Amino acid sequence: MNERLAFYKFIIDSLPIAVVVIDSEFRIAEFNSWAEKLTGYAWQEAKGHHCGEILRSGMCDDNCPLKAILNRAESTVGVRTSILSKKEEVIHVQISAAALFDEEGKLLGGVETLLDISQLVALERERGNFISMLAHDMRSSLTGIHGLGLRLLRKPVGMDEEKERQYLEIITREAAKLEALIDDFLEFSRMEIGTLKLNLSATSLDKELEEVFENYEPRAAQNRISLELQVEDVLPIIDADANRLRRVFDNLLDNALKFSSANGTVTITAQEREQEVMVAIADDGIGIDPEDLPYIFDTFHRGRTAAGREGHGLGLATVKSIVEGHGGRIIVSSQPNVGSTFTLFLPKKRS
Ligand code: ADP
Repeated sequence: MNERLAFYKFIIDSLPIAVVVIDSEFRIAEFNSWAEKLTGYAWQEAKGHHCGEILRSGMCDDNCPLKAILNRAESTVGVRTSILSKKEEVIHVQISAAALFDEEGKLLGGVETLLDISQLVALERERGNFISMLAHDMRSSLTGIHGLGLRLLRKPVGMDEEKERQYLEIITREAAKLEALIDDFLEFSRMEIGTLKLNLSATSLDKELEEVFENYEPRAAQNRISLELQVEDVLPIIDADANRLRRVFDNLLDNALKFSSANGTVTITAQEREQEVMVAIADDGIGIDPEDLPYIFDTFHRGRTAAGREGHGLGLATVKSIVEGHGGRIIVSSQPNVGSTFTLFLPKKRS
């Protein structure tokens, strides 16, 4: 192989996209390493086969992109379809094709590129699920509020004050749930379109943590969980968006309480370090399955232990983007049935 050819082969092999080159009879003539990875076939296995036998795409039978070029003399760009891998897995891809003809219009060969879009398709599906779950949860809160509101308006004879109070309490609780849900959704949309803007000002972490503690203490006590705040020294004043930081602490504490059982302990600790401030929220609850840990901050990801508990898998994704927006980072350590600790580090000075 001459040097130039070897160089072209190297380029095709290095492209982070599957490239399949076919000859004039639609037989595979080149197959780069991404094509091997995507389809599961080694180059030696694919070589010489009709491309439809290897790719088994939804388009192969009636809508072959290369035949379409032959018929209509136009190239296929970025068409979504799926292929079947050697292991019979359905892989969603975006396919593009181009063909080379001789002077008489006879096909000399063609090239197909396939981009793996499985993750994108999964995200779209999850987003769809999320929207319907959100609508469902909003609807059930609203239906409750509506029904109780009507009852209070009609005020049947004999409705005592205690009942009336109970209804008002449920209405208030459901309305607060709706508000939190909408807040999460708005924050998520802002994050997605990149318009999450922080309003930074001098913020006392001591004050923030004290207020969060006071806010959550009664709720923890109601669930027979002991909430502790351990801050030894005075914490520095940092440049932060206090409202957004509050959302971070609220989300982490909501989770710590949600995934703990009665008689558990949730501890908030904070410490000043050389360049940063560390805040950790630890619980001794049900913990996180090791298989979920790498994805726990992903949007919509809900751990397998979360089944049966309220949530939409948005909280930690929001927490992470707010912390990173502040130039900080967040880590998690967890063990099933032992507990979880979320530790965030915020820079003392923003660069
Ligand atoms: P949600 O709580 O709405 O499911 P989050 O994004 O807040 O969504 O959390 C994602 C997942 O992380 C949860 O579904 C749960 O599996 C796991 N998780 C978060 N915090 C904890 C915790 N303190 N203990 C155990 N699991 C947790």
